Amino acid sequence: MQARPAQEIWETALGELQLQVTKTNYRTWLEKTTGFSFEDNRFVVGVPNTFVAEYLSRNQRSLIEKTLIGLIHPGIEVHFEVTPAREKAGKASTHPGGNDKYTFESFVVSEGSRLAYTAARSVAEKPGASYNPLFIYGGVGLGKTHLMQAIYHLAQEGNIKALYVSAEQFTNEFVGALQAKSTAEFRHKYRHVDMLLIDDIQFLVGKEQTEESFFHTFNELHNANRQIVLASDRPPKSLPDMGDRLCSRFEWGLIADIQPPDFDTRLAILKAKAKQQEVEVALEVLEFIAQRIQQNIRELEGSLNRAVAYAKLFGAILTPELAARAVQGITPSSNQATLDPELVIKVVAERFKLTPADLAGRKRDRATALARQVAMYLLKEGSSCSLAQIGLDFGNRDHATVIHACRKISRDMANDPYLRRQVLDIQKKLQRPPRSRR
Ligand code: ADP
Ligand code: MG
Repeated sequence: MQARPAQEIWETALGELQLQVTKTNYRTWLEKTTGFSFEDNRFVVGVPNTFVAEYLSRNQRSLIEKTLIGLIHPGIEVHFEVTPAREKAGKASTHPGGNDKYTFESFVVSEGSRLAYTAARSVAEKPGASYNPLFIYGGVGLGKTHLMQAIYHLAQEGNIKALYVSAEQFTNEFVGALQAKSTAEFRHKYRHVDMLLIDDIQFLVGKEQTEESFFHTFNELHNANRQIVLASDRPPKSLPDMGDRLCSRFEWGLIADIQPPDFDTRLAILKAKAKQQEVEVALEVLEFIAQRIQQNIRELEGSLNRAVAYAKLFGAILTPELAARAVQGITPSSNQATLDPELVIKVVAERFKLTPADLAGRKRDRATALARQVAMYLLKEGSSCSLAQIGLDFGNRDHATVIHACRKISRDMANDPYLRRQVLDIQKKLQRPPRSRR
């Protein structure tokens, strides 16, 4: 029963934990841990030093235990022990401050990201010549950092002196320089480059002194025709309290947004990631994941990893059913896409050769009931409508009926490939084309 190696279990657990804590938190505390041993309900996590052991034990014990219990069985107790560091092969990046897997080649371009991608490439190839600054914005996990680093790598290959930092790093260095009275060095570092890339620039909001320092850096670089690239989770106009002078400068060049990917792009990304990792995953499974996770490519990737890890853990073939179990409990974090009830009812009715009135009406034959349940399920998954609201849309049914419908469809989908295909097709149809740009 306890033959599963601790490390394998722990890797699956890490996959889950990664989705539940912030990126910084994960990097700082969890990334370098290992599954050391697992015996008699005692799970030992190996950590690099006592500091991490103490932190995890004090702050994340219950989350970690909960996660392990979900994977193994109740009653697991977690312990943290300092163990010698395990070098992960191929982890080290050849470029300081860069992540090698973030290249233009590994970026899957979609309608919603084409402008940002094209602009990024042209800036990397000819810095200072086209758009200055290039300002990329988009939601969490949509590829901003990926594009920034792709620019950075390509620039470096072209012998362009580039510097990539997060706004947080920039701030820390600035504050450190102030304290150490070494602002001259700080200035030198940031103003003697051909290209400066600052990620997550929204972080500067409200940090007046750092903003001021960045303002001068910006001016100097821009005057000297050096390339500036910025990424943010929102457009310049929506950066509250960012000084007007800075905001208007952000608009001097090109502002390119990244929109969430459509279904086909999500599927293409999953295929690419599976190929990269050299794992074979059935198309059906990829489609299932692409359909479930819509708004965040990091989560999309995470779900695939988790599903693969699950299959390994249980020594089973990765089926959509298993994938469903693996991604259960991942509630898409930023599901802003919201479906229009009228449209859902219309499309579902069409697909089942019924009319919208049938779905809202009292007919109870199997086909009508199924269509109605599918429509309820789609609305619950794809909109912010409450159960009560959904009930209202279907001829004033109560919320218990809606819950029953959603549970039934999600259960049946796991067992019935034909139903799954039907629901997928409808969902694809309901996906609106990416919003047009400003
Ligand atoms: P952001 O900085 O916008 O929050 P990231 O650039 O960190 O997002 O992207 C999150 C993850 O998704 C990364 O692993 C990245 O490689 C991947 N990713 C994002 N967009 C794409 C894309 N278009 N093609 C391939 N991978 C992508
Ligand atoms: Mg980022």
